[in-house]
Amino acid sequence: MYYSADTVAFLDGEFVPAAQATCGVYAQSLHYGYAVFEGIRAYSTPAGPRIFKAEEHFERLHYSCRAIGLPLAYSVEELTRISYEVLERNGLTDAYIRPLVFAGAPNMSLKAASTSNVLVAVWEWGKYLGDQSLRLTVSPYERPNPKAVPIEAKVAGHYVNSIIASTEAKGRGYDEALLLDMHGHVAEGPGANFFFERQGELVTPPAGSILRGITRNTIIDLAREAGITVTERFFGPEELRTAEAAFMTGTAAEVIGIASVDDVVFERPFQQTIGGMLARHYHALVTGQSVGVAL
Ligand code: PMP
Repeated sequence: MYYSADTVAFLDGEFVPAAQATCGVYAQSLHYGYAVFEGIRAYSTPAGPRIFKAEEHFERLHYSCRAIGLPLAYSVEELTRISYEVLERNGLTDAYIRPLVFAGAPNMSLKAASTSNVLVAVWEWGKYLGDQSLRLTVSPYERPNPKAVPIEAKVAGHYVNSIIASTEAKGRGYDEALLLDMHGHVAEGPGANFFFERQGELVTPPAGSILRGITRNTIIDLAREAGITVTERFFGPEELRTAEAAFMTGTAAEVIGIASVDDVVFERPFQQTIGGMLARHYHALVTGQSVGVAL
């Protein structure tokens, strides 16, 4: 359940009961998917609740707004302060934070909005894709052409692509989809980035048709600090036959192992892979138990 009668959300300058944080059915965002959002996590740390990489997430929210011409009246600092206050008012320390910037005014035109609304909601959310290594399938749906939409922005409408890809994969009995870009290269999951491991090194798709995940960047930094080579380059799904292991990363999913991609099975238990080690370091980092890396 995302909210109860006691839940408080932030909406347009006020802290209100979540049940009253509503918008009208004539809102431009509802009709056209013209909104942007973030997915952030707060963790209990020895120093109290800490929002992991708040600045990076709210900078990306600003970037996403600019990319679609949606105004955003709150600074990174204000959004961070508001998020801590929403957590506190709900008595939450380990929580998922969902800021949403939307065009709530009744407006059926296809012109960029001149004003926006801001919601910050929080809820308790376990690892989005669970704890067990995932069986992926290459999706028949591709990531959208980056020349058609600003694909590196976290735009609500892009997630129709994610929803149909994920639903199609689950309908065929898999746990999640793996989407290719328009050139047939592996891009990412519906809500998480993808890495594979071979001969002690990591490979991940470069920017271009993916969301540049903040978890992805964190994992690349952790790996490089540990002396592991990480290469950002294009590759097709056939190259996964030579991979020894794979994993996905995302704020909601954190770091999750991949058991197989269609008929390619990764035999090594995730815990014994580089991804497994990085998952433990990631957890230590976000919960304030470590700052450095030594694998
Ligand atoms: N790709 C997509 C399409 C996503 O929705 C997400 C989740 N925000 C990610 C990757 C991972 O991004 P992050 O690590 O910043 O959460």
